[in-house]
Amino acid sequence: MKAPGTVTTGGQIKVRGRIPTSRAGARRRTIVTYRSAGARRWRSGDTGWTNRRGEFTLSITAPAQAGLLSVRVASPRLGRLEAVRRTLAVSVIAPTTTPTPTPAATPTATPTATPTATPTVTPTVTPTVTPTSSPTDTPTVAPTPSDEPTVEPTPTGPLGDPDDWTYIGSGDSMRWDACQTITWSYDATAQPYPGAEADMTKAFAMIAEKTGHSFSRVPLGDAAFTVDWSNPDEDVRLAGSVVGIGGPTTRRIDPALNNGTQRAIVGGMVVLDASHASVPGGFGHSGWGQVMLHEIGHATGLGHASGREQVMAPVATIYNTVFGAGDLTGLAEVGTSKGCLQMDPYGRAADRDTTVTWME
Ligand SMILES: [Zn+2]
Repeated sequence: MKAPGTVTTGGQIKVRGRIPTSRAGARRRTIVTYRSAGARRWRSGDTGWTNRRGEFTLSITAPAQAGLLSVRVASPRLGRLEAVRRTLAVSVIAPTTTPTPTPAATPTATPTATPTATPTVTPTVTPTVTPTSSPTDTPTVAPTPSDEPTVEPTPTGPLGDPDDWTYIGSGDSMRWDACQTITWSYDATAQPYPGAEADMTKAFAMIAEKTGHSFSRVPLGDAAFTVDWSNPDEDVRLAGSVVGIGGPTTRRIDPALNNGTQRAIVGGMVVLDASHASVPGGFGHSGWGQVMLHEIGHATGLGHASGREQVMAPVATIYNTVFGAGDLTGLAEVGTSKGCLQMDPYGRAADRDTTVTWME
């Protein structure tokens, strides 16, 4: 899974990009608006103009409260050029170090100013918007902040298409044995925040609830399913914006004996990238909990979904912080509903057909 952009509270968010402009190089008006997760109204940020190549740089100041932010760049229709509207998600996080206010010299002194926490960490990711899409998904009416709906539709259930899920790898159907407890281990050595172990435990419980599988934590070295923290220097699969990888080890089985299932999952692996220090812990927002669910999902047999509202979408954003309809179908399909596995119909051939798969 890949990480969203992040910025610290009160920090500047620079939004850069390029939009199509006329051959003559007309400058186009650009407007940036933003909205905190759960807020109804879009707030105004910068308004400016592109240069003659259509390039723009706009900025907004991140709110003082941590959370998720939708940032939208819009440009009205210009002659034959369609209006442009792009939205991206930015994680606003608290600074990792908070300055300690200097105590007043004597108890009787009257403070003349309130100590103000100043972020000492600069954003490591600058969100960049590069509109590249076809005209079909751009509105024909120039969007302005006042055009935006002031009320968000209230979701009534799991979002997205119930069929929006896949098996990981070549598409063979697979699952863990419904009649065995799945043992897992957790190496806390390199974990980047104290609550990471509790978050991982909760993630396994959430997957257990939706699949029916039973997970049991065991000591390091004894588990079929290993969870570890690493970094891009140790594991090149974590390079760039990748925050975690996960996948199963599988063996071919006889579908006729296994309710149609083609592969048995006999091992699982999740590796998370501790170098992404700005990703927040916990669940219910874009952060490590969401990444853990995604990677356990891979190791439970699921590939990527196409809709952004599924936890199994390739990128962690504000849109897929809870299981979507496709996730729930997929988790049920790789769950215990299809019964125990007959593991060894091919005798020794099964051992030669062990396949390891992983995805970001
Ligand atoms: Zn993935």
